[in-house]
Amino acid sequence: MQVRPRQGIESRSPELFSRVPRRTALLLLLAAALISTTQLGAQAAASVTLVKAGRLLDPRSGQVLASAAVLIEGDRIKQVGSTSQIGVPAGARIIDLGTATMLPGLIDGHTHLLLDVVLPAEAERARRVKGTFVPDLLLAIAESPSKRVLLGAQHAREYLESGITTVRNLGHSGIDGDTELRDAINAGRVPGPRIVACGRKLITRGSYVQSLNPTLTDAILQQEFLLIDGADRARQAARQNEFQGVDVIKVTADANLTVAELVAVVEEAHRAGLKVAVHAVDKTSIQTAIDAGADSIEHGNEATEEQLKQMRDKGIFIDLTPTSYGDFFSKIFQGTIAESLTLRASRLEADERDRQRYDDLAEQVRNSGFRGGFEASDNQLYDTLVRRVLKSGVKFAAGTDMCWHFPGKTCGQAATSRFATLHEAGMPSLDVIRAITTNAAEMLGWQDRVGAIERGKFADIVAVSGDPIADIGELERVRFVMKGGQVVRNELAAH
Ligand SMILES: [Zn+2]
Repeated sequence: MQVRPRQGIESRSPELFSRVPRRTALLLLLAAALISTTQLGAQAAASVTLVKAGRLLDPRSGQVLASAAVLIEGDRIKQVGSTSQIGVPAGARIIDLGTATMLPGLIDGHTHLLLDVVLPAEAERARRVKGTFVPDLLLAIAESPSKRVLLGAQHAREYLESGITTVRNLGHSGIDGDTELRDAINAGRVPGPRIVACGRKLITRGSYVQSLNPTLTDAILQQEFLLIDGADRARQAARQNEFQGVDVIKVTADANLTVAELVAVVEEAHRAGLKVAVHAVDKTSIQTAIDAGADSIEHGNEATEEQLKQMRDKGIFIDLTPTSYGDFFSKIFQGTIAESLTLRASRLEADERDRQRYDDLAEQVRNSGFRGGFEASDNQLYDTLVRRVLKSGVKFAAGTDMCWHFPGKTCGQAATSRFATLHEAGMPSLDVIRAITTNAAEMLGWQDRVGAIERGKFADIVAVSGDPIADIGELERVRFVMKGGQVVRNELAAH
């Protein structure tokens, strides 16, 4: 069957417009402009909010303001001070958080909201893993783009509910999943944090896809990555992302990436006013990123003292991702195994005895202290890395690199559980908080809008019951979340 072109409508539309006299059209436009200005004015006047709390922590200075008050007009902070200094404008909404501590909305400098990696059992992993691309990651990126963007929307909501009001999403979003999610959140269609989106990751052919069926490689590459193959193609890849409306360029550096290729990306990105975040773990890749003038080095696990010094001198951020620190993966593995056993028991419609046996097994796994096999070396590496970073004076921020299905936790809960691990690795609590507020804002180039509770910035505020300096674990127990003057969650206010 042939589909006929819908000639009728298309040919009539221009005619319709041409019939409206030009002056009338102009007047209509003016009226529309006036109406929208009036509405905006009314909205701003209606949304004056005063948030009060026992304490306000300023991560920049480390000072704590007692009996603190923040006056908010629309989506911005208008005034910060003690309750005695700030008058309550007539008609203002007052939110009293009691004795809680306010701090700026948290920033996750490195995440993957559209990825949901389910780690398979060790035996399968050991049998199928090849190169750096493991089957669990492959399955996650091979899913339908629509499914992934909806999953991203769920993760975004969970992030916001946990107190993370800004994220930098650094890849694995399909072609435009993260830019679309960003726009949907900004348009108020779905709840979520502010998103700095990178679109597709720029990679060399050596990365990520070795495990694939070779006939599928190019299709997956195009869906998930932009290929760097020479300086011209690298520049083109950056331009392609700019065309898609990204906020930052993400590159994965490995031994195959040349300085010339990365320089081309950096030049092109900077020309367009975009920063370049470079995934670099080993010494060679880190040096490539430094020499090419990257803006931030992601992970940076094997950075030497000399490299940290070079980064400090060039003003390059190290974005620490303590994802595998502590017993994170053990917990994921235990949880996933327990989940699989429970599912198996129910799917087999096991009789009561079998079910009991599976339950017992799951319990044994949970109690066994089963370890995923990452921790010992990672922990050691991190302890020394964190110490060297602090000593070197290099600019630092932190990200969670979250992309894992964590049984029993939301994506936001899994992410906030990572911040305390920096403290366990030797970073003072105040520096941990800086890494995910003021420092992270500067790394994103958003220091004028987020990362601090200061006049003129977005009213992105969280509050915890206790003292986050005394117990950094409070960051996992955020009780109040406000983004852009809108309350997302409040378990503190006496209504
Ligand atoms: Zn990552």
